[in-house]
Amino acid sequence: MNSTEDSDEFVSVKYLSKMEESNKSALNVMEGVGQPSPVNTDLVRKLKDRKKKRHPVSTYIEGIFAGNRTILSQAITLVESSLHSDQKKAQEIIAACLKTRPAYSSQHPAPSIQSPSPTYRIGITGVPGVGKSTFIESLGTYLTSQGYKLAVLAIDPSSSRSKGSILGDKTRMEELSVDPNAFIRPSPSAGSLGGVARKTRETIILCEAAGFNVIFVETVGVGQSETTVHGMVDFFLLLMLAGAGDELQGIKRGIIEMADTIVINKADGDNLNKANAARVEYTNALHLFPPSENGWAPRVDICSAHTKMGIEKVWEAILSHREITLQNGFFQSRRREQNLQIFYEALDEGLKQAFFSRKQMDHAVKKIEKGIREGLVNPYFAAQALIDKYFSEE
Ligand code: GDP
Repeated sequence: MNSTEDSDEFVSVKYLSKMEESNKSALNVMEGVGQPSPVNTDLVRKLKDRKKKRHPVSTYIEGIFAGNRTILSQAITLVESSLHSDQKKAQEIIAACLKTRPAYSSQHPAPSIQSPSPTYRIGITGVPGVGKSTFIESLGTYLTSQGYKLAVLAIDPSSSRSKGSILGDKTRMEELSVDPNAFIRPSPSAGSLGGVARKTRETIILCEAAGFNVIFVETVGVGQSETTVHGMVDFFLLLMLAGAGDELQGIKRGIIEMADTIVINKADGDNLNKANAARVEYTNALHLFPPSENGWAPRVDICSAHTKMGIEKVWEAILSHREITLQNGFFQSRRREQNLQIFYEALDEGLKQAFFSRKQMDHAVKKIEKGIREGLVNPYFAAQALIDKYFSEE
C-alpha cells in the first residue's frame, strides 16, 4: 500500500475492505491504527436513520391496514419512542386502529365464534431454558401452516436491545423469523414494567389492525411480568419441565393458579415417562385449587417442542377454552376488565405526567426533595401540600 493511496482512500470503503483482506490473520500487527472515534458513529447513523423514517400519520394507518410489515414495524417504533412528537403520532395511529375493532360492550353483545372473530391473545411463560422459543417456533409454524397470522411479542423489562433482549436474537426462531405469516418483535428496551406493558398492549392493537389474528406474548418466568402478561391475554399458558429438581421450579403458586393450561415440555426420549408422571402430579395439584368461575377447568398436557409431539393438542385446548369462554361471555368480560385496567393505568400515568410537566411543580418537587434529604420536611405533608397546590392552581 503506497502512501498516496493511504491518504486518498483513508476513509473509503475500498480502503477498509483492503485492510480487512490483508489482516485476516490474528497474528498480524497493525501499524498506526488510530484510536476509535469517541463518537459512536453507528449510533449516530441509527439515530439519523430513525429520524428519516418518520411518515405522516395517514401513511402509517394505511400501511398497517394494508398489512405492510415494514410500516407496522416503524409504527411500533413510534409506540416505543419516548419522543413527544412520536408519542403524539403513535396515539393517533392507535386510535385509528382501535376504531376497526369490535367493541365488546353491552350495546354490542357477545360476538359469535365465527363473526366478527376476535383475535387470540395468548401469554406464554416459563423459566429460562424450559423451551419457550422452541415451543413458540413449533406451535407458531403449525399455526401459520393452518392459515393463521401470528405476531410474537415479548415482555422482559430487564432486557435492553443492546444487551440482546429476549427474542432479539432472531436465530432463536429460525423458521418463524422468515415466515411471511409471522411477525416477531423483540421486547421494548428496558424500562419500568408498567411502561413496557403499555407499549406491548399498544403493539398488540397495531398488530391486530395489520391482520395478525394470533398474538403470542412471551415472558420470562421471573417476577412480576407474568401477572402483567396475564392482564393482557385471553389465555395463559405455563410451560414447565418434568423432574427438574424442585417440582415447582421456583414458579410461585400464584402463577400456577393463573395458568389456563400447564404444558410439560421436553416430553421426549428418556424424559417421556417423567413427563407423564409430572402430568399426573400437576393435574392432582390443580384439583386442589378452587374451580374457576369461567367454566374452564385448567388442564395439564405434555409436549415436545423438538419433535412437535403434543403441539396440536395444545392448540386444541386453546380453541376449546375460547369456545367455552366466548359462549359463556367470560372471554368478553375478561377483555372488558382488561380495558378497565388500562383506563386506570392511563389515568394514573396521565395525572403524573400533567403534574410533573408543570414547571412550578417540578421546581417545588426539587426543593422538597432537598428538604426531605436533610430531614427537615415531613414527606407525607409535603406530598399532600403539593397535590393541593397543583389543584388549587388549575
Ligand atoms: P427458553 O429459554 O425458554 O426460550 O428455552 P429454549 O427454547 O431456548 O430452549 C432451551 C433448550 O432446551 C434448548 O437447548 C432447546 O433445544 C431445548 N429444548 C427446547 N424444547 C425441547 C424439547 O421439546 N425437547 C428437548 N429434548 N429439548 C428441548
